[in-house]
Amino acid sequence: MAHHVTLLPGDGIGPEVTSATLRVLEATGVEFEWDTHKIIGTSAVEEERPELPDDVPASIRERGVALKGPITTPVGEGFTSVNVQLRQRLDLYANVRPCVSLPGIDSPFEDIDLIIFRENTEGLYAGIETYDARLEIADSTARVTRRGSERIVDFCFDYAQKNGRDTVTLAHKANILKESSGLFLKVGREIAERYPDVNFNDRIIDNMCMQLVMYPQQYDCIVSTNLFGDILSDLAAGLVGGLGVTAGANFGDDYAVFEAVHGSAPDIAGQGKANPTALIRSAVMMLDHLNETKAAQAVNTALRDVYAAGEVLTADVGGSSSTTEFAEHLAARVEEEMAA
Ligand code: NAD
Repeated sequence: MAHHVTLLPGDGIGPEVTSATLRVLEATGVEFEWDTHKIIGTSAVEEERPELPDDVPASIRERGVALKGPITTPVGEGFTSVNVQLRQRLDLYANVRPCVSLPGIDSPFEDIDLIIFRENTEGLYAGIETYDARLEIADSTARVTRRGSERIVDFCFDYAQKNGRDTVTLAHKANILKESSGLFLKVGREIAERYPDVNFNDRIIDNMCMQLVMYPQQYDCIVSTNLFGDILSDLAAGLVGGLGVTAGANFGDDYAVFEAVHGSAPDIAGQGKANPTALIRSAVMMLDHLNETKAAQAVNTALRDVYAAGEVLTADVGGSSSTTEFAEHLAARVEEEMAA
């Protein structure tokens, strides 16, 4: 039986990394029926449609699962991020971003295996912003709620327990943001008591950044509010080879949207230079979610082999191959793995 999944190729490098990912998924033999929506964000606005056309969340509600490429957000003006809108409309409160080393990537660390759990619907991304044009004063409110904090911290602990992970670290700024970060930390400590088998500690966000750059192997699961989680996950991506290799997924109670951490990378779009590994690893998370465990393992094994060999890699990780060459090479290796 084919899996019914919504496909959003996105813009910028999105369509390139999406077709590379589809090639690799095809090599697993797992069958999909894609409901593809190409018109979203800027392309929708150009057609005088809303940046997030209603048929997109409707499709995900019907199918439960989406694979998504990046979508450009205008900086400092224009429409509200489609990515943020989608997470809020579908109540995808948990953004999960694993940072796992691959062999053969030139990086100061070789054995990193940590996961950032980012609250995805509130905090400074709640969209509560005002601007007083006369006085030229801008305000953005970081909304943190007990319910929002409880569910993301609980999601993180539950994941840690089910996946045999040792420790949850909560990153905050409760020394200064005594209300918003203070509530998040207070709730975190309460939830931790329900999980006596999982260690718990907390770090102030600035120290957390320094710790991650110097001693990343000491960290396991890290949970934080929306903005801190966003920044920490790009930092952590930099420890394992960059945005081109770092996967992500957005989970709610009812739906899941799988997307890489990176954006639309306008600086390299359309040049065949984009590394599709990040979206391919997001697709591996999707295969696991769909209980296609053998296929997920096959892609992971093939990825490690291709990186260890180091012959066919994209430029961001030291190679000279194009997006398509990398995808074809990986797909052939996945086919062998599935046949073994
Ligand atoms: P970006 O992630 O697009 O790019 C940052 C740097 O990383 C660039 O130098 C880019 O070339 C490189 N890079 C990113 N992905 C790569 C890949 N797969 N292979 C090789 N190199 C890669 O971040 P940005 O430039 O700050 O943002 C560009 C646009 O993307 C903005 O409009 C932003 O709002 C949007 N964005 C979207 C999402 C999303 O759709 N979830 C996430 C982040 C940013």
